[in-house]
Amino acid sequence: MPAGSTFDTFERYKQQGLDARRRGQWPAARSYLLNAARLITELAREAKGDDLRHARQQTAEKLLELARDCGQASEENRPAGSAGKSKPTSREHLGREGADDEAPDASGWMVRERPDIRFDDIAGLADVKDEIRLKMLYPFRHPDLAERFGIRPGGGVLLYGPPGTGKTMLARATAGELDASFFTVSAADLLSKWVGEAEQNVKALFDDATSADRAIIFIDEIESLVPARREDAGSGVMQRVVPQLLQGMEGFGKKASQPVLFMGATNVPWQLDPAVLRPGRFDEKVYVGLPDLPARRKLLDIHLAARPLASDVDLDTLAKRLDGYSGADIKYLCDRAATIPFLAAVGSGESGDDTTIGHDVINQVVTATPPSVRPEAVERFAEWRERHS
Ligand code: ATP
Repeated sequence: MPAGSTFDTFERYKQQGLDARRRGQWPAARSYLLNAARLITELAREAKGDDLRHARQQTAEKLLELARDCGQASEENRPAGSAGKSKPTSREHLGREGADDEAPDASGWMVRERPDIRFDDIAGLADVKDEIRLKMLYPFRHPDLAERFGIRPGGGVLLYGPPGTGKTMLARATAGELDASFFTVSAADLLSKWVGEAEQNVKALFDDATSADRAIIFIDEIESLVPARREDAGSGVMQRVVPQLLQGMEGFGKKASQPVLFMGATNVPWQLDPAVLRPGRFDEKVYVGLPDLPARRKLLDIHLAARPLASDVDLDTLAKRLDGYSGADIKYLCDRAATIPFLAAVGSGESGDDTTIGHDVINQVVTATPPSVRPEAVERFAEWRERHS
């Protein structure tokens, strides 16, 4: 993996960890923060120069401390009956060296939460939401009707599209709409930590989800678990994990009485093993694309509404200008545009009550930040979509 993309993944995990922590989603926050700590530790090892290495190590320590706090908060909030599962140590998440000390514990690589977000919290993607409603929500809400019309509930949905377009959010919101338990797994974790155990972990994941009242299993970056070119994986573990996963998907969520669904997400669908795209596995393939104009306008509302905006900011014009930017890009731009006047107010030593986010600052940030998704990438998705629809 090039250093750039490891850093991007680190940033994403860190942000997701901090977001989940703010929302009080302790197990999710802990897992994301541990993943961020693991990646920044790897990056510290690769750093050229002592200062950078030291700074990254310090970041890792801070993230570990936050993760430990989230672990504690999670223990304190743990519902009765779920005690007794041992908590994995931070070391398990930080690198391979900790992997052999303890038996793998599902809570280390699998996050289980009850998301409280809904489709309305996601800007745009009306067609995508409709497809998910048809496939995943209505059959469970109206089982008798679904049976009468031969609509088969459950199964697998693959969300694919450029990074930062809301795939993870959509999966969480689907669980939120269904009031289902949401099981998230990092494919990279599953493979890297407990080589030799990974297939048992896949089985445990499906068993746990099947025993829940309503459940969604979500695997992000699913192509790393089922890559088209398996020899790249370099170990026999892939040969055992893939059949286990396919078997789990085929037997999963086929009864209306047992609402369990499987969702996978990828930014590189062409790297997937075609076996997972066959009927009975990922029956639905849903493209999650860049936000259109109304979605970009709503994203600006979501991320700027609660902030002090100057009267010279025209959000309609800004939404037009942001054509080609992803939802995650727009969130970043808004956060960045808020940071600049905030720091200026802090530096001035004044109250900052009159400071606002003005057109010039936004313009400066947008000019300095090109869209993260290139047009060629969007074209490549369109080609893949045509061949697989
Ligand atoms: P990746 O492929 O990199 O994992 P993703 O497609 O899963 O990315 P998310 O992680 O769901 O994208 O989105 C990242 C962040 O961007 C979200 O937490 C959210 O703040 C923002 N975002 C992206 N798309 C939307 C959207 N349509 N509506 C609201 N927020 C969005």
